[in-house]
Amino acid sequence: MTVPVFRFAPSPNGPLHLGHALSALLNADMAAESGGRMLVRIEDVDVTRARPEHERAILDDLDWLGIAYERPVRRQSEHADDYAAALDRLAALGLVYRSSLSRTEITAAIRMEEARSGRPWPRDPDGAPLYPGIDRERASGETDASGASQAPHAVRLDMAKAVRLAGPLSWEEFGDRLHGESESIAADPAAWGDIVLAGKFTPAAYHLAVVVDDALQGVTDVVRGRDLYFATAVHRLLQRLLGLPEPHYHHHRLIVDADGRKLSKSRGSAGLADLRATGATVADIRRMVGLAPAAPLSSHPSR
Ligand code: GLU
Repeated sequence: MTVPVFRFAPSPNGPLHLGHALSALLNADMAAESGGRMLVRIEDVDVTRARPEHERAILDDLDWLGIAYERPVRRQSEHADDYAAALDRLAALGLVYRSSLSRTEITAAIRMEEARSGRPWPRDPDGAPLYPGIDRERASGETDASGASQAPHAVRLDMAKAVRLAGPLSWEEFGDRLHGESESIAADPAAWGDIVLAGKFTPAAYHLAVVVDDALQGVTDVVRGRDLYFATAVHRLLQRLLGLPEPHYHHHRLIVDADGRKLSKSRGSAGLADLRATGATVADIRRMVGLAPAAPLSSHPSR
């Protein structure tokens, strides 16, 4: 039987809050329960947002929570070559194009189309307008996405083509208590439109980096927040196109504030370090995120 591999993958853009604590503790509990491995990955591929001081604070918080993770941790900023190789593979399949429109140009194109059709422009599962694909048409036929000599550009996936090549996709969603029950979920990556695979100044966007890293780290069980549920469709698509193994997924409930909104630093949600400073213990944190003290989730499904 393969040893399950779990991971907690924070972005060092700010301090950890209770939502992160739930994710990290669930992963660690499930790894412990199943005799699995627990990894931490620092998702700092967007160097414009990542800060080393946040990474230090995050690792401190994880140590304080008593989470035993393997070291060294993987840092995305150190693996640009892995993402470039994946991007080359998608380019060789003719599935990517250079996209250099500015945000203003994109918004203008969408407004024009909305005015012309009298209908609202379609949006992705996160509520953002789909990319209008103007430069997809312009670039059709091109396969070289790296274009080092070109002006700064993002690289996008030609979603319609990618979906045609990949065929139907689904993922296995396992339940809260790991009783071995899981559900097959039909994946609809097309709902995201032509996603960015690499930014103008970043070697990989979130979706690409996450699937490459999960595969290279041998992650078998992805346990993360419900906010990433629909993103899993894109991850399954990229895994299929890149020939990567398929992890199992569990998307846990989100911790919300008094107004029912997801916690976030910008709305002043208390960080773990703040709670710690006011005397909270790990047992308090477990209680606050709705985890029983030493109530490990029951055994991992046998595969
Ligand atoms: N880095 C992402 C975040 O902090 C999580 C990515 C994942 O678990 O797939 O929201």
